[in-house]
Amino acid sequence: MQKKQFKAESKRLLDLMVNSIYTHKEIFLRELISNASDAIDKMYYKALTDSSITFNREDYFIRIEIDKNSRTLKIIDSGIGMTKEELEDNLGTLAKSGSFDFKKINEAKEDVNIIGQFGVGFYSAFMVADNVKVISRAYGEESGHIWESDGASGFTIGEYDYDRTGTEIILTIKNNTDDENYDEFFEEYRLRSLVKKYSDFIRYPIKMLVSKSRLKEGSDKDYEQYFEDETLNSMVPIWRKNKSELKDEDYFKFYTEKHYGFEQPLKYLHINAEGTVSYKAVLYIPKRPPFDYYTKEFQKGLELYSSSVLIMNKCGDLLPDYFGFVQGLVDSENLSLNISRELLQHDRQLKFIAKNIKEKIKSELLSMQKDQRDVYDEFYKGFGRTLKYGIYSGYGANREMLEELIMFYSSKDKKLVTLSEYVERMPKEQKYIYFVSGDNMDRLLKLPQTEAVIEKGFEILLLCEDVDEFAVRMLAKYKDKEFKSVSDSGDIGIDDKKENKTKDSDDDKKMLKKALEILKDKVKDVRLSKKLKSHAVCITTEGEMSMEMKKVISQMPSNEKIKANKVLEINKNHKVFEALKAANSGDEEKFKLIVNILYNQALLIEGVLPEDTIEFAEGISKLIAG
Ligand code: ADP
Repeated sequence: MQKKQFKAESKRLLDLMVNSIYTHKEIFLRELISNASDAIDKMYYKALTDSSITFNREDYFIRIEIDKNSRTLKIIDSGIGMTKEELEDNLGTLAKSGSFDFKKINEAKEDVNIIGQFGVGFYSAFMVADNVKVISRAYGEESGHIWESDGASGFTIGEYDYDRTGTEIILTIKNNTDDENYDEFFEEYRLRSLVKKYSDFIRYPIKMLVSKSRLKEGSDKDYEQYFEDETLNSMVPIWRKNKSELKDEDYFKFYTEKHYGFEQPLKYLHINAEGTVSYKAVLYIPKRPPFDYYTKEFQKGLELYSSSVLIMNKCGDLLPDYFGFVQGLVDSENLSLNISRELLQHDRQLKFIAKNIKEKIKSELLSMQKDQRDVYDEFYKGFGRTLKYGIYSGYGANREMLEELIMFYSSKDKKLVTLSEYVERMPKEQKYIYFVSGDNMDRLLKLPQTEAVIEKGFEILLLCEDVDEFAVRMLAKYKDKEFKSVSDSGDIGIDDKKENKTKDSDDDKKMLKKALEILKDKVKDVRLSKKLKSHAVCITTEGEMSMEMKKVISQMPSNEKIKANKVLEINKNHKVFEALKAANSGDEEKFKLIVNILYNQALLIEGVLPEDTIEFAEGISKLIAG
């Protein structure tokens, strides 16, 4: 039979497992049992939705078999099984790219304990076994296959006559070494305690034939050995237990067992709601987004159980998009077991639960924001984008849910600030909530438009993510305070009263008109600025479309042609203005040159290249040369 090679990434993981100095080799059992349980879940779910399958409660099991003589340990399940292709794909390749961070593992060489935090999966078998065989028959197939590997040199797959649907993993356990005792994996008590430790909540019985002894019949001192099937796990699911019985570790253990994520979540919520609709839920807020979170492939959803029986793997209707990162499950007796997906969507109970959950998540996040700000900041770095996007995409409908949760960086200390904190620290004379947007905080703080506002002692929100300004403009107001872009061409509420009164002179007006004539295809207006302090020029915009928003939109594939209404603002108190005036009275050529350079310079400040960079550069040379 031809030997196939493992895919490159899988090979590295394998090497790691085989040569692991990891002390908790025992986790291999947890991993294999979880896989078995997942496979039975799939079968169970199939049977639920397909009435042609008859499958009874007793048919769902996981079994451990020990044979010390042949040094084998078997883990058998009645799950959905794998086809030949699945054996090759699932076991020949590391299952999900991104699910395993090699860099982290390599960095953690010594403290290999970190491995335990990851779902290392099937490959962990090679930590304890020299040879692994996987016999499997997929549901719906006539016969089965056998996959075999010694880890190092690849694997083989062949046909195998297997008389039932499911999977059997056969490990040939390594021989003891000077430092490692592998024989312990043949000890009943050891296996029993491992199952209790790692897999107690598994919903299917994990059975093992254990040896017992009893008094021989008719004797009062002679004992005889016999074997009896024992179910090693308690099977009471965590969400049905009392919160008081559970420790943080139990919730975290459940999280990894369920493959919700690989590192400890930031928070968990255990809900036990009683009322017209009763339900239990265990929900988790992960530490950071999964690798595909911000892609179309990502599917939000919670597991849905009806009286402890899984009815849907990922029920998307239970979570709004903006809380799509929440992981976990919901169990309710009020839901019908045989309800179809389509009907479920319209189910009143389900809607009620979804609404309830949404509120609970919100208040959990708010209390995190209040009491554990550093944790919330960490959460926000990963998921803030989703919340802000939620405001934008909901056309403001989610305002109430989200406006207290969002934060932006502040010009005050470059730290994240909530809107309510911002408003609280506003000086009395400040009318607006100021913002400026662009991709880099330091650059934003140097923008000409921000200088006067900051000098007034007003704080500016620095909107650094592409979605930010869209969200802020969708909100328009927070409480009764209006958001105002410092790049707004209109009055932004910082005018000194004195200066207000000095109107532009007629000469100035004429000159500005001339300048506008030169730039008429590019800007809406040329004005003397009320916001510039030390800088010569800046670009502001009129209306809802800012320079930043235009940038974001033009990068989208739809390639919509949109325009920002630009205004060129010139600082009357800057020497450049004198030079402009001088050129205006006599040197037409030079006037035109300066106007163009000033405009392009203002564009550059916004991080936008002049349309004709060569002409711009040549123009500067011309100006320098006189
Ligand atoms: P993970 O469980 O994280 O996906 P594994 O390496 O443990 O990664 O398993 C890879 C895949 O192999 C699983 O996703 C599953 O599709 C399949 N698999 C593993 N064990 C079994 C089993 N006992 N029955 C059916 N499929 C299995």
